[in-house]
Amino acid sequence: MASPRARTPLAEQVEELLADGGPLPIVAAGDPVLRRAAEPFDGQLEPELLARFVQAMRLTMHAAPGVGLAAPQVGVGLRIAVVEDPAPVPEEVRVARGRVPLPFRVLVNPSYEAVGTARAAFYEGCLSVPGWQAVVARHAEVRLRALDEHGRAVDEVFSGWTARIVQHETDHLGGTLYLDRAELRSLSSNDAMAQRWTQPTPAEAARALGFELP
Ligand code: ZN
Repeated sequence: MASPRARTPLAEQVEELLADGGPLPIVAAGDPVLRRAAEPFDGQLEPELLARFVQAMRLTMHAAPGVGLAAPQVGVGLRIAVVEDPAPVPEEVRVARGRVPLPFRVLVNPSYEAVGTARAAFYEGCLSVPGWQAVVARHAEVRLRALDEHGRAVDEVFSGWTARIVQHETDHLGGTLYLDRAELRSLSSNDAMAQRWTQPTPAEAARALGFELP
C-alpha cells in the first residue's frame, strides 16, 4: 500500500490561504510573485485541495469583481487560472469588442499562440493594478492549449473578448502584466474612464491622448 504523499510546501500555503473561507487577498503589482514564471501544475495539490482552491479563486474573482484571476494574483506560484465573463454590456459594446458570455472554466498549464495576424486594441484593467486601465493591442484570435481541472486536454480557438481574457490570464503565469504590453499614453484612472472613455472603441482616446491603434 502506498504511503500518503508528503504535503508539498505549496499545499501548505494553499491550506493556509483557504483557512479563512472568504475571498482571498489579491496581490498588487510590486509583489515579486507577479513577476516570476509560475510552476507548471503537476499534482502539487491533491485533487480535493485543488478543487477547494479553484472554488476560492472563483469566489475571489466574483467578489472583486473580475472576469479572470491567475493563481499568482493570490500569491500562489502555480500555472492555474480561472475565467468567467457574464458580459453585462450594451449591444454596441458587445459588437465592437466581441464580448459574449464566457462560462466559468479553469485553465491549468495554459499556453496560447496567435491565429493569424489580426490585432485588436481595447482598454483593459487588472485586479493587481487597481484604479487604472490602459489600451492593449492583442492577438484578435488565439489557439489555447491547456488542461481543465480534471486533467483533460483543452485545445480551442478563441476570439473577441474571450481571446483577450485568455491572453491576459496566461500572461500572468509567465510573470507578465498587461502594462508590459500596453500603450502607456492610454493609461487612464478609473474616474477618467468613467467620465471620458466609455465609447465602444478607444479611437477617441487615441486621438485625445496621442497613442497609436493597430
Ligand atoms: Zn490581471
